[in-house]
Amino acid sequence: MKLLLHACCGPCTLEPLRLLQEEGHDISIAYMNSNIAPKAEYEHRLQTLLDYAKTQDIDVVEGVYDPKAWAREAGVIGPDPETRESRCRACYRLRLQEAAQYAADHGFDGLATTLTVSPYQYTEVIHEELVDACGTRGLKPVFHDYREQYPEATRRSRALGMYRQDYCGCAYSKVEADTERAERAAERARKKAEHDAEMAPIRAAQEAERKRKRAEKQAYAEKRAAQRAALKAYKQAHAND
Ligand code: SF4
Repeated sequence: MKLLLHACCGPCTLEPLRLLQEEGHDISIAYMNSNIAPKAEYEHRLQTLLDYAKTQDIDVVEGVYDPKAWAREAGVIGPDPETRESRCRACYRLRLQEAAQYAADHGFDGLATTLTVSPYQYTEVIHEELVDACGTRGLKPVFHDYREQYPEATRRSRALGMYRQDYCGCAYSKVEADTERAERAAERARKKAEHDAEMAPIRAAQEAERKRKRAEKQAYAEKRAAQRAALKAYKQAHAND
């Protein structure tokens, strides 16, 4: 099948591309991600993808980078964790609808996406949005849940020295990721302080025991030296007896 693969970034493309090629599809990649902010980040991810696609001789088509459209459709929902799923749904929709329209306009038979590689995404929502984007345009949605491939994608992208971003894409997700990292670091520091406090009396007792043994050893050494000195003096005093 002539298949358009919507790709969010280079690392997430590795495994879906490999598996879809094994299925025998004729694949082109669509980089349509107006969610990514700032623009420098968008371009960095794009370049990473382009560099890899070149090594595989795969065409990449870039969509229109339109962060205002993303802000209108998804960003407007805001950063509230309780509405995050709705925001991500709107975000998937914007990108998959754009990719589906391109696919329909350019003679593709189906559409797939790399979005399901990440275990941090809403897999079933992605499925629904892919089906919806394809349905009205006569395209076949080629859906796979690639979460099991995440460790292998991580391993391969590291081995290839690929740029690996540390947040999903939008400005909200950057704040969320930074906050989560800070929370994890604070939690690690709290646990370490707790562990150190628990260990302090044990370490103090161990140190006291080490000191006691050193003092005992020292006293024994001094006693032996005194005995040797006394013996030596005795021998010298009676050398001529
Ligand atoms: S967290 Fe990711 S999927 Fe959700 S809105 Fe932001 S960029 Fe889109």
